[in-house]
Amino acid sequence: MISHNLQLVSHRIKQACAAADRALDEVTLLAVSKTFGFDAVREAAACGQFRFGENYVQEALDKMDALRDARASGGQALEWHLIGPLQSNKTRPVAERFDWVHSVDRLKIAQRLSEHRPAGLPPLNVLVQVNTSGEDSKSGIDPAEAPALARAIALLPRLRLRGLMALPAPSPDEAAQHAAHHGLKTLFDTLRAEGLPLDTLSMGMSADLEAAIAEGATMVRVGTAIFGGRTYHSPP
Ligand SMILES: *Cc1c(COP(=O)(O)O)cnc(C)c1O
Repeated sequence: MISHNLQLVSHRIKQACAAADRALDEVTLLAVSKTFGFDAVREAAACGQFRFGENYVQEALDKMDALRDARASGGQALEWHLIGPLQSNKTRPVAERFDWVHSVDRLKIAQRLSEHRPAGLPPLNVLVQVNTSGEDSKSGIDPAEAPALARAIALLPRLRLRGLMALPAPSPDEAAQHAAHHGLKTLFDTLRAEGLPLDTLSMGMSADLEAAIAEGATMVRVGTAIFGGRTYHSPP
């Protein structure tokens, strides 16, 4: 099932890249395994998938422990991305165990992640989460304030600022999907033009990955289309 779904998602990504005249290797698939057990992660890894996204810190740490020595079928170690909201009292385990954090929207969180990132590990890859949907969303920094936050994060020694992430309000309307993704891409291009060395634009999920790829996503975060429907939406 997971193997078949991964094939379907890869096919969608391939088609979207072709339609947008983009090279396939410009888009990375992050498999969002939140709420699914380590057996599901292991099954995806057996198909070569090695990047996994998680929303809840404790749930993710439990999976990392269970999969400590697991490798994807290509031999790669598993790579863990935190994509859910991060509170400042959880920054230590996140800095110690994750490879990427997509949800940085405050300087205080970034500073704590940098302080806690162990010296023996490479710098923690981070994305600034931007609120492209206006008032109805609580996560993400206002687009107008994102450049200053990005510049400040770029100076922190133990972080490597890679780009931007957004979680637009879901919409069945394709034009609205494109508009939200286009806004983030414009901000990304502006920051790059200022000289920030950003290479990652994390946007697009199961329902809107085509629109996101058309607008320039370099990483799509896909859960449902790989693992199936989720039965709970908050920590167990
Ligand atoms: C759950 C989640 C996803 C995956 O969403 P699907 O619609 O299941 O593909 C992507 N990004 C974030 C931030 C999420 O919380």
